[in-house]
Amino acid sequence: MHELSVTEHILRVALQAVDGRRILAIDLVVGSLSSFVDDSVQFYFEILSRETLAAGALLRFRRVSAQSTCLACQVVTPVDPPLPFACPACGSSQLRVSGGTEFYLASIEVEEL
Ligand SMILES: [Zn+2]
Repeated sequence: MHELSVTEHILRVALQAVDGRRILAIDLVVGSLSSFVDDSVQFYFEILSRETLAAGALLRFRRVSAQSTCLACQVVTPVDPPLPFACPACGSSQLRVSGGTEFYLASIEVEEL
């Protein structure tokens, strides 16, 4: 159910940012390792945004991959679940995964005045 609270947060931030103009679309960046479900966010957004300037706005989700850095050869590879157990370049299993857990509002499209 944590989609509900992030959706509330995104809607609040978006409404503060647009200064009274109507919101047409919101671009969201979602990391490939984050557990947020696009459909749930969309569902809550439609309910929460009723009677606001964001009513009917389109939510656009952009997925970004996590990155795996090999501690043996330093090769960096974008990774998506399921995560690899070995470096594609040297086969080492010493990998450090970073990123992929993002969930943030990237941009807002508003109605021209
Ligand atoms: Zn490697």
